[in-house]
Amino acid sequence: MIAFQKSELFQAAVSLLYPATCTICRKHVRAGEYLCDDCKAKIIRIVPPFCDTCSEPFEGSISTAFSCANCAYRTIHFEAAVAAYRGRGIVRDVIHEFKYNRQIHLRHLVGRWLRAALDDERLHECEFDIIVPVPLHPARQRERGFNQADLLAEQLSTHASVPCRRLLKRIRYTTTQTALDRSERMENLHNAFRLRKNADVRGLRVLLIDDVLTTGSTLSECARVLKRAGATSVHAATAARA
Ligand SMILES: [Zn+2]
Ligand SMILES: [Zn+2]
Repeated sequence: MIAFQKSELFQAAVSLLYPATCTICRKHVRAGEYLCDDCKAKIIRIVPPFCDTCSEPFEGSISTAFSCANCAYRTIHFEAAVAAYRGRGIVRDVIHEFKYNRQIHLRHLVGRWLRAALDDERLHECEFDIIVPVPLHPARQRERGFNQADLLAEQLSTHASVPCRRLLKRIRYTTTQTALDRSERMENLHNAFRLRKNADVRGLRVLLIDDVLTTGSTLSECARVLKRAGATSVHAATAARA
């Protein structure tokens, strides 16, 4: 963490010397902003209709609650996984910079997108006892230097006054999921997570946090572990949905 604090100090010093610029197009922006108005306007908000369980948007008009085909044919262990934005274009680029190019300061922007998910009525009406980030495998975390879900969960914890606890650990170094189809992802993730020693989630209402929701397989697998250990409910929020 020390390295981040240093880099943040550096960042603060830099922003005094140079005016703030848009993360994407480098146009000047107001202090404290990460995107210019033009880039902001390109961000895609997820609007109804979408799957009640995994938030997959649906093209067409449906006015009643529904589950998408993917959720109807598999066991989902979370109550609902919510994202307010599509993880495409600018949103994808910003999250990529944050995660892979160590642009740690972008966690504030990504954190805003995550907070927007909490306005969704599936989460808005819930109370949570703890916030739990989706863990990275220790080897991956060493390689990246941080876990993006940790940073987002900590911010949300401060904002929502709900304690953040790293209760899960990733015990399998899974290969990247991107090239796998849905059933391969499920197989790849099976038994990838475990509850940390002495973690007690009995009777707790959990809010699980990750940066991006893709198929929901990772969140579902984490939810399965938490529920098997006695969690009352597991909802999930992410900054974006692929
Ligand atoms: Zn811009
Ligand atoms: Zn679904």
